[in-house]
Amino acid sequence: MIKRRSSRRLQIGRLFIGGLEPIAVQSMCNTDTRNIEQTVKQINCLEKAGCEIIRVAVPDLKAAKCLGVIKRSINLPLVADIHFSHELALEAINQGVDKIRINPGNIGSETKVKQVAEAARAKNIPIRVGINSGSLEKSILAKHNHQATAAAMVESALKHIQLLEKFDFDQIVVSLKASDLHRTAEAYSLLAEQVDYPFHIGVTEAGPGLKGTVWSTLGIGFLLQQGLGDTVRVSLTDDPIAEVKTAWEILKALDLRKRGVTITSCPTCGRTEIDLISLVKQAEEALADVDKDIHVAIMGCLVNGPGEAREADLAVIGGRGQGLILRRGQIVKRVQESDLIKVLVDEVKRYQ
Ligand code: SF4
Repeated sequence: MIKRRSSRRLQIGRLFIGGLEPIAVQSMCNTDTRNIEQTVKQINCLEKAGCEIIRVAVPDLKAAKCLGVIKRSINLPLVADIHFSHELALEAINQGVDKIRINPGNIGSETKVKQVAEAARAKNIPIRVGINSGSLEKSILAKHNHQATAAAMVESALKHIQLLEKFDFDQIVVSLKASDLHRTAEAYSLLAEQVDYPFHIGVTEAGPGLKGTVWSTLGIGFLLQQGLGDTVRVSLTDDPIAEVKTAWEILKALDLRKRGVTITSCPTCGRTEIDLISLVKQAEEALADVDKDIHVAIMGCLVNGPGEAREADLAVIGGRGQGLILRRGQIVKRVQESDLIKVLVDEVKRYQ
């Protein structure tokens, strides 16, 4: 049982994070925010895949001015990702976004920070302070032997946090990202001893497909296991849909969230007499949108099949060109291979 760190609860649009709230899954659009149609289309697809908070890049005023229309066209809480510009932050807040990501120490004078903090407070919008090991302040690096250590990352985070607190702003979310796992974990652990603001967790620039998935899973999984993390973003050089799916699998694997059908399947071996790899892919696709918390086991033969089937709500055990369908460990049907997925999907839909 994972004991979660106690963090304060914040509202992001219609969603809450922190406190005892479920760990929220988020992602970031890779569309041009100025292309409203494409951005809204991607957000709606991401919502269908399980995304709960969406962030968009705001590189200029034209993008900032699109945020209101985007916000009104979607259901998800909308986060504006801004670097350096308090004008863009003020415009994003004015457009009605639900949260902004900006590092207050990077936007110039304290007057500008005060303006942003006051505008965000007036609309009850949180601000995420997002520290990346690759862009720490020179003055902080100099104090840490020019190394972007975990302690340097935490010092930078505290500096930005204190700037907001100076203007009575406490609706803060923090992220501390490095592309190596040990530093990321150390930084979050250190900061957890000093603040109770909710943590946005992830491994930055995790990379493409397999490598990014493995590194993100290990990094995020380790943090979650330590009880750290209130919202998760898996960063992949891939379609953001893959980020959302990976995040959900991590949360499901640690029993932190439940969503849809969970498929367990065997790796296949020389005993397999059915095209199990193809069957599992078909089942994954056919059951992707089924909103039922069900465990389905798909096994290649009777050697390990019955054991897995006993643990699953529904199971398929393959044989030569056919398979058995089991419900709570009891055989209910023998089905030809060509009909197995269709019958399994019907059984899942009927399952109470
Ligand atoms: S369940 Fe059967 S087919 Fe699948 S890996 Fe185990 S022994 Fe092989």
